Amino acid sequence: DIMDAGMRRLLRASLGLCPRHAWAYAAVEVELWQAGAGSRGGHQPFDVTILYEDLLDHVATGLERKSSLLHRHPDDVLVPVGPCRICMEMVSPGQPGLRMGYANSNTEALTAEANTLIHTTTWCLETVGLWRDRVCPECDPAGSEGTGDPVLLCRFHLARRRPLPEPLRNAVASRLQEVRGWMRHLTASMTDFGGAARAAENTSWIEAVGFFAGWGLPLYLATDPEEA
Ligand SMILES: [Zn+2]
Ligand SMILES: [Zn+2]
Repeated sequence: DIMDAGMRRLLRASLGLCPRHAWAYAAVEVELWQAGAGSRGGHQPFDVTILYEDLLDHVATGLERKSSLLHRHPDDVLVPVGPCRICMEMVSPGQPGLRMGYANSNTEALTAEANTLIHTTTWCLETVGLWRDRVCPECDPAGSEGTGDPVLLCRFHLARRRPLPEPLRNAVASRLQEVRGWMRHLTASMTDFGGAARAAENTSWIEAVGFFAGWGLPLYLATDPEEA
């Protein structure tokens, strides 16, 4: 279990994993998990939704905090403390690219990895209509710099805009709680007890990982190679 109390604290501090490992972790779970309940009969990101429910709540609560002289500034919650756990476990300085996010990696490397991500690709393609308009405008190669809705910014692009005005902080917190609410239903739908997940719920984990890890991978997987 990744979510014992000590690990939960570490994962909160580091805001989860680095972009590459956050998406890799989600994808591996989607590809390999075959025993679940729910309409997909497995191939669902169960541990991922548990992890991101916690992280979304952590960040949303932090952003909603009132500014005060005694505490860190509320938007400091967007600044990770400590490294990605998986990077840390695999430290081998000879390997280039280990710390690169998908957003920065080259097309060849992405193609090689994406070829093995059959279920993740299917999931991204099935839901693209629902999340395409909710992509971080600055992760989005189709977006023009500085013009998108700042409420949709991923944590990296949001952190660059600190200090954030309070209305923006509150709006981002509400959005994150909304995504978290959908994800709770999705988590329940993967057990024997929950009802079937609806569209917004099915898309919620992509939005959650997109917020914490940037949108490089789903944008890549949902782009028709003919069009790219
Ligand atoms: Zn990492
Ligand atoms: Zn972004």
